[in-house]
Amino acid sequence: MNEARGLSIQITGVVQGVGFRPFVYATACNLALRGWVRNTNSGVEIAVDGSAAALERFVVRLKGDVPPLARIDQLQVAEIEVNGFEAFEIVASSETGQGFQPVSPDVSICPDCLAELFDPTDRRFRYPFINCTNCGPRYTIISDMPYDRPATTMADFMMCADCASEYSDPGDRRFHAQPVACPVCGPQIWFEPDGQRGEQALQATRRLLRDGKIVAIKGLGGFHLACDAHDSKVVQRLRAYKQRADKPFAVMMPDVEAVRRHCWVSEAERSLLESRERPIVILRHRPDSSVAEAVAPQQATLGVMLPYTPLHALLLERQLDIPEALVMTSGNPSDEPLVMSNQAAQSRLSPLADAFLLHDRQIEIRCDDTVASVYQRPDEAASIYPLRRARGYAPFPIRLPWEMPPMLGAGAELKNAFCLTREHHAFLSQHIGDLENYETLRSYETGIAHLERLFRIKPEVLVHDLHPDYLATRYVLDRAASEGLATLGVQHHHAHLSACIAEHAYPADRPIIGVIFDGTGYGTDGTIWGGEFLLGSYSGFERTHWLKPIPLPGGDTAVRHPWRQALAWLHTAGIHWEERMLCVQAASDRALDALEQQIEHGINAPLTSSIGRLFDAIASLAGVRQSVSYEAQAAIELEALVDGQEEGVYHFTLKDPVIDAAPVIAGLLRDYTANCAVGTLAARFHNGLAVMVRDVCQSIRRQHGIDVVALSGGVWQNTTLLDRAIPLLESAGFKVFIHRQVPANDGGLALGQVAVAHHSLR
Ligand SMILES: [Zn+2]
Ligand SMILES: [Zn+2]
Repeated sequence: MNEARGLSIQITGVVQGVGFRPFVYATACNLALRGWVRNTNSGVEIAVDGSAAALERFVVRLKGDVPPLARIDQLQVAEIEVNGFEAFEIVASSETGQGFQPVSPDVSICPDCLAELFDPTDRRFRYPFINCTNCGPRYTIISDMPYDRPATTMADFMMCADCASEYSDPGDRRFHAQPVACPVCGPQIWFEPDGQRGEQALQATRRLLRDGKIVAIKGLGGFHLACDAHDSKVVQRLRAYKQRADKPFAVMMPDVEAVRRHCWVSEAERSLLESRERPIVILRHRPDSSVAEAVAPQQATLGVMLPYTPLHALLLERQLDIPEALVMTSGNPSDEPLVMSNQAAQSRLSPLADAFLLHDRQIEIRCDDTVASVYQRPDEAASIYPLRRARGYAPFPIRLPWEMPPMLGAGAELKNAFCLTREHHAFLSQHIGDLENYETLRSYETGIAHLERLFRIKPEVLVHDLHPDYLATRYVLDRAASEGLATLGVQHHHAHLSACIAEHAYPADRPIIGVIFDGTGYGTDGTIWGGEFLLGSYSGFERTHWLKPIPLPGGDTAVRHPWRQALAWLHTAGIHWEERMLCVQAASDRALDALEQQIEHGINAPLTSSIGRLFDAIASLAGVRQSVSYEAQAAIELEALVDGQEEGVYHFTLKDPVIDAAPVIAGLLRDYTANCAVGTLAARFHNGLAVMVRDVCQSIRRQHGIDVVALSGGVWQNTTLLDRAIPLLESAGFKVFIHRQVPANDGGLALGQVAVAHHSLR
């Protein structure tokens, strides 16, 4: 008989709310070990007695066989006195003060729960809130740590005897699943206006959707507005209500088989669609799809997601009479944050929705759907290319190779997400939205307070964009003044560069070339940047090359009206404005006179080196679009038209350090006049940009000997451009980094801000 020994084991990582204690329990019992396991607010703690050999095997299994949603950051083992335990048990959680641990994101319904949901003999048959230790709500129901039922919005529901026995049975797959519930004791759905419940509520919802009505449906992290995606009349009505003229809506379809009838789906795209994160995946839309054009006007793509909650699975059930594709767009009036309470839905969404499908489980924190593309490279395992990071991913931390002080990166104005740091973790928040009004600012502030409480973070440094008028910048400056905290301003494109390399844990002492293309970012010289080649790293940068700055006549007005930017480029290129040009036709005579004055005398015409604005000018000159109703619309529509077979190129001229697009403008006009197809023009422009990127990088390499490149900034959401630039760079011998964990657009900016701050302040 081996002599008994004692071990104390501390584990940190994502180990709460993911079935970790049951896993520890089962592993210990299997090895006939005695002791206990408990949650602390820094992770999981184990005390155990047993033979040396069994204890050794125990530790190996703890590391190797973790449950699917768990992630171990650290596992520390110490020898302790033998306690003389008689059995192994799960004991109550202990508060340990300042400790903290990551929270699991919400997880889509697992195959086991899905099977029970449609099993008539199961006691949760057709119950819309079925979940287990491997699936269900987490982040959006947690109000505090440690993660136990009283610290979630499930505290309102008292478990029935059956649920309680599953919850406390170590052999059950719902052992310590905090959101456990059933039709007897858990949350319920109902339909308004008539108050029907359960199955009748589902039927009423389906009937209305079928009849061309709009239903507001309460989900996991907020409301959706749903309607039949095949019915252009109801889609147009939804657009009018949401004051959203053209921006595409996402759709939900029952399964991949259905998706294939509307979109082309690669193997990597299928796998992302069906992943437990279940994001909205941007797919190539088939021309023979029956989804109405109004869902995604002027697009070559469609954003699609699969059902991710049991309620969705019931609603979109096959064999029932329900449209195959439902528009499922965020439930919020124009420019306001996602609605998350029943009360707010009834007051804010009633002008938009004909009816409501509600439930009584409260949402603690709002969380939108994630949006992602797939971009595959032969040498990389990851193929996700995130565009908006939220449900399924937030608040999973990005692990950085440095231990950081507590900081807040405030993010930017549009597509805001903020970032809090602690130790090696960068907690990038879910997508917050455009910080343009009081409501979104409030949502931003409560979001920051919530995550600071959850992760026990008190930021010592607040990091902001250099733009003085961003609401996020003002929030930082006001808060720093009232709390006496340090602040640091970080240049917008430097933050983009740093975000891209930080998520790859790129070392701090190796400079890299950042090709940073976006719409707008405040430069260190007070002009608007957006077509920048930066050489540097987290702690600093040199701006080696940039697109020739041209006037942006009318400032924000020019952003909404690409024809203004086209006229400014023509003027700069020395090309006369002529009546046959579409940008001239889009302007009145008075506007042309005023614009000429603005450009020549620099009145209300700030200079910009933005590639986003160059896309606008090209889209206008090519006849694609003269005015836009959402950010980057002209560029997205231009990309959609690219002829994939076309190999022609519009060449930029490079006179160090300035890149001039004048010959691109001239070449495009020549082809346009010769009646070239618009797809040819769009392709030659994209090809030209890619060649320019390679040529400038080569010029930088000649001078500085650097051959590593990071591509970041909102323009790089354009995967057609990625497709053209990456092979050119790689065949010229460059190593290329692109985003995989955070978006290339401003949604990833806050990660870069904290990375810069950490290295600048050290
Ligand atoms: Zn499950
Ligand atoms: Zn129950």
